Amino acid sequence: MSRCLAYRAIDHVVLERGEVAHTWRTERWDSLRLLTPNWQSRLPGSSYQGDDPDGYRTIPQVIAFIENYAKAISAPVRTHTTVTLLRRNDDGYLVRTDRADWQCRALVLASGACNIARVPAFAKQVPPSIACVTAQQYRNPNQLADGGVLVAGASASGTQIACEIARSGRPVMLAVGEHIRAPRMYRGKDLQWWMDAAGVLDERYDQVDDIGRARRVPSLQLAGTSDRSTLDLNVLTDLGVVLVGRFAGLADGKAQFAGSLRNMCAMSDLKMGRLLETIDAFARASGLDGTVERAYRLPPTRVADNPPLTMDLARHNIRTIIWCTGYRPDYGWLEVPVLDHKGMIRHDGGITASPGLYLMGAPFMRRRKSTLIDGAGDDAREISAHLASYIGAGAPRSIALEHAR
Ligand SMILES: Cc1cc2nc3c(=O)[nH]c(=O)nc-3n(C[C@H](O)[C@H](O)[C@H](O)COP(=O)(O)OP(=O)(O)OC[C@H]3O[C@@H](n4cnc5c(N)ncnc54)[C@H](O)[C@@H]3O)c2cc1C
Repeated sequence: MSRCLAYRAIDHVVLERGEVAHTWRTERWDSLRLLTPNWQSRLPGSSYQGDDPDGYRTIPQVIAFIENYAKAISAPVRTHTTVTLLRRNDDGYLVRTDRADWQCRALVLASGACNIARVPAFAKQVPPSIACVTAQQYRNPNQLADGGVLVAGASASGTQIACEIARSGRPVMLAVGEHIRAPRMYRGKDLQWWMDAAGVLDERYDQVDDIGRARRVPSLQLAGTSDRSTLDLNVLTDLGVVLVGRFAGLADGKAQFAGSLRNMCAMSDLKMGRLLETIDAFARASGLDGTVERAYRLPPTRVADNPPLTMDLARHNIRTIIWCTGYRPDYGWLEVPVLDHKGMIRHDGGITASPGLYLMGAPFMRRRKSTLIDGAGDDAREISAHLASYIGAGAPRSIALEHAR
């Protein structure tokens, strides 16, 4: 967004509570690699120039990539500046920070979609002998007590963390709710390549039937590894991970798991099949059929005949629960009435009902790829165009940002 505002000669600042790439420095586990290949993290005016376009960035590489981009575009970032209040006033918006107040005519909320780990309310009833860790707090298996681990949630974070802990030798149980299975490679190419080429990631928010539902869809079960292998529930079962249904409750130290495991897996296989059909249709229509591997399908997800519906956590020596049950944004500082009853910003493709107030980085904000680094560019180009016309910047002009204190 900063690059797009600069391009339009719109005077702006970027307020950041930590360092550039703060969330990548503080909220990710050690072994995480992007699940998107290097070529796919395109930002306005920047594309991958290295010699490993199909590799997956490590966390230090992601930090360096974002830092270098901020430097290259001379983004006017004010680090260690936490926004503590945002209020509308006659001149636009008052932005209070722990350092100074700012007055601006327009404002882009780009504080992230994943500030707080979503944890079910019954987590409060977990016995004190069991440590609870969220995906944001998890770093590596060494931080965990010896003994069994229950991982709740089987999307990208949950499957990757369950895999790593199982490989460390600990018994792992994975509570599986709604998830979307996806092969890493399909017909000889990265799944992300197919989704990009076939236009799946460019699908717009105003073209899908139920955008509310589309925005809640969990992340694909993908991992970025050097062997480009698929990470799905069958792989985890082969590693000894025990699959149970969605973690639905807890009473007297006994975990309750939903009886929907088989259904959830069947739905996930079905959704994967639909995605692969879209890709096959694209390959056919674009004349790629003869040049890539033939279409194929993975065997269905294997599910035990009678997965347990309850489990005494202590008796099964579960010492840690890792909540990989999603994330939500934190707008505790926002005093502009644009939140819905769930605390999410109401918006139309990133444009809120409060004039001059915009959003970035929200799931499926304008396109399916809005969730990804790669989606920020197109969103920023369109939102900055709207913002420019709002402030009357037909010809470049300044937002007139100034210190109020
Ligand atoms: C575990 C995980 C893995 C992911 N893997 C991938 C991947 O492989 N590929 C991919 O493309 N995308 C991935 N994503 C998504 C990716 O993180 C987002 O697309 C991207 O980070 C969005 O950038 P952002 O700047 O909108 O949000 P963020 O990266 O969350 O940045 C928001 C910034 O706002 C700051 N901030 C928050 N509140 C305040 C405040 N009150 N005052 C001042 N500053 C504040 C934060 O410190 C932070 O630096 C992943 C996300 C997660 C959680």
